Amino acid sequence: MKFATKTIHGGLHPDPSTGAVMTPIYQTSTYAQDAPGVHKGYEYARTQNPTRIALEKNLASLENGVDGICFGSGMAAMDAVLKLLNSGDEVLATSDLYGGSYRIITKIYERFGLKGKFISMTDPAEVEKHITPATKLLWIETPTNPMLNIVDIEAVSKVAKKHGILTCVDNTFASPYLQTPLDLGADIVVHSATKYLGGHSDTVLGAVVVKDQALADQLHFIQNASGGIPGPMDCFLVLRGIKTLHLRVARACENAEKIAHYLQGHPKVNKVYWPGFDSHPGHAVAARQMRGFGAMVSFDLHKDEFDEAKKVLSKTHLFTLAESLGGVESLIGHPASMTHASIPKEERLKNGLTDSLIRLSVGVEDVDDLIEDLEKALTFL
Ligand SMILES: *Cc1c(COP(=O)(O)O)cnc(C)c1O
Repeated sequence: MKFATKTIHGGLHPDPSTGAVMTPIYQTSTYAQDAPGVHKGYEYARTQNPTRIALEKNLASLENGVDGICFGSGMAAMDAVLKLLNSGDEVLATSDLYGGSYRIITKIYERFGLKGKFISMTDPAEVEKHITPATKLLWIETPTNPMLNIVDIEAVSKVAKKHGILTCVDNTFASPYLQTPLDLGADIVVHSATKYLGGHSDTVLGAVVVKDQALADQLHFIQNASGGIPGPMDCFLVLRGIKTLHLRVARACENAEKIAHYLQGHPKVNKVYWPGFDSHPGHAVAARQMRGFGAMVSFDLHKDEFDEAKKVLSKTHLFTLAESLGGVESLIGHPASMTHASIPKEERLKNGLTDSLIRLSVGVEDVDDLIEDLEKALTFL
């Protein structure tokens, strides 16, 4: 089955009890049993919910995995993956990663004896040098947030495999339409479905997809034991969002390409970060492992000051100043004070995350209107 068909049909069937074409929202906490232990496979909704299971099967299909496990948020999904590890184990993660991912490792899991090490993964040989006997998980984000660096998933997964380490890719930025890490050798894919999968900025949800049934069983055990499940209404909304994932992401990528080129030619703009440029250090890898260059574009200003960025951030009308990404509407954000405020400034600067860096999540509006909006805002500099 091709991707566009999977978004609509992958892992899904009309509802067996009524024939409903769209997966119903099973808003129930429990299920009637005929006799103790005699039931239809559903006992209690933390453990099984038909709407959630439909979404899990659909996501498994999109990511070419065997099973999906859904959670109340992307962070709850990451939390479940970290619970595969034990005290004393080490996570090797990309250095410019989502602020919340850095926070859960350093502020929560380090208290329980897990260790986090944050390194650039753009050079796979460099990754191997940081592996110790304690390293049990590689945590990859690609494209990275917000610098849009590219990690070679295939090469890094190979290094991990050699050392018996699990590889997990946070695929939120690319979405399975652009990149399927399990096909490239990763063991686990994590999503904040809040972003491209949901696609309409109306739901918070997270997911894990794996290609090994034993690992899926372990994660279902953690899901049931820790309980961070999403509600059925949210699962329904994400299922609904996914049906247009391919259309939305394709258009957003087209828009982002035009915007990246427009910004690169603007006299007030210092540097534009977008993996589609030939000059981007990760361009060749991105061209190989992705089916498009994504709809996230970051740029900074010649005058590198927060106040300069603020002028632009407060003057756009179509680009809404907000956290998050991946919706049909375009968003503009300031990583240093918003998504990445929990990362110390010295750490941020090491990765090129300057005070004037602005991040765009390009939506599916008419690109001429989006460029006009940026043009007007940039005249305030
Ligand atoms: C938003 C985001 C998360 C966290 O997901 P939530 O659904 O907000 O909990 C994790 N990783 C990346 C790359 C994100 O953009």
